[in-house]
Amino acid sequence: MSIISTDISKAVTILNNEELVAIPTETVYGLAGNIFSEKAVKAIFKTKERPFFNPLIVHIPNLEYLTNVVSHVPEKARLLAEAFWPGSLTLVLPKKNTIPDIITAGKSTVAVRIPNHPLSLELLKQLDFPLAAPSANPFNRISPTTAQHVASYFKDKIDMVLDGGSCKNGIESTIIGFENDDPIIYRLGAIAVEQIEAVIGKIKVKNKKATSPDAPGMLDKHYAPRTLTVLSNNILEDLKTYSDKRIGVLSFSSSFEGDNIQHQIILSEEQNLNEAASKLYDALHELDSLKLDIIIAEVFPDFGLGKSINDRLQRAAFSS
Ligand code: AMP
Ligand code: MG
Repeated sequence: MSIISTDISKAVTILNNEELVAIPTETVYGLAGNIFSEKAVKAIFKTKERPFFNPLIVHIPNLEYLTNVVSHVPEKARLLAEAFWPGSLTLVLPKKNTIPDIITAGKSTVAVRIPNHPLSLELLKQLDFPLAAPSANPFNRISPTTAQHVASYFKDKIDMVLDGGSCKNGIESTIIGFENDDPIIYRLGAIAVEQIEAVIGKIKVKNKKATSPDAPGMLDKHYAPRTLTVLSNNILEDLKTYSDKRIGVLSFSSSFEGDNIQHQIILSEEQNLNEAASKLYDALHELDSLKLDIIIAEVFPDFGLGKSINDRLQRAAFSS
């Protein structure tokens, strides 16, 4: 029997029982468990094969709940929460003592957001605890944007995927931390830097070469297909370079021709970066399933969500 279901009350029962449910959000599917259950949280790490030094994002039902989780809210954090929640923004703030160390990897800060998906908001409303919910993929693999992606990763390991359709944004949340109350972007994501700056003014982006477990989404290799992936500024040139290979092409809006192109995915013929971001992981899942020799992915424009897409593609293509 399929583990995919739309039955919220079944999800409530499983989560109350300290077990895991994969949940839909507007970013990607999350592998959710009760933040106060050591059993559930350990199962999240085990199921994902995620190292314990990677802290988890805490999902809360509404803004009023925030003060149960964090001990201090800088003014700019409040402005951002009011502007973007429920939504694809994660705030890293000083934690309340009640938040278990395993959630924060021993750090004094906790990452928190309100997801913007009707099923998960309803689920959170029916629970009396927040949910830890990292992306529902094995560590370092491509994030899931459909219930089917999750089921193909975890069908023997979890009891249920709550099916909320395809994720609207399709890329992880933008993570913002504070250093002496000054905001800094730890991870580029579904909310563009320009949107953030429209609310709080100029913001720094943390150097992504920093491999500190400060922000594990910042590890160089992440979000990766198993097929060799290269990032290209000139697809025509690279089609020649890899002419002896079976190639998959992932492009923004243009179509390419070549005998060795086995499969090609265009993310947005209208050159809409939001549409491209929402389709990115599904395209990588599809290309990766074809057992090609190489995926050639086009570099995106360096603004708006193009920055976040390039960040993910660089990690997908990272090799060392
Ligand atoms: P995932 O939910 O799989 O996208 O990963 C959770 C992300 O949250 C990680 O990439 C971390 O960078 C980030 N994160 C969670 N807690 C913290 C924290 N206390 N400080 C900094 N980053 C955090
Ligand atoms: Mg992840």
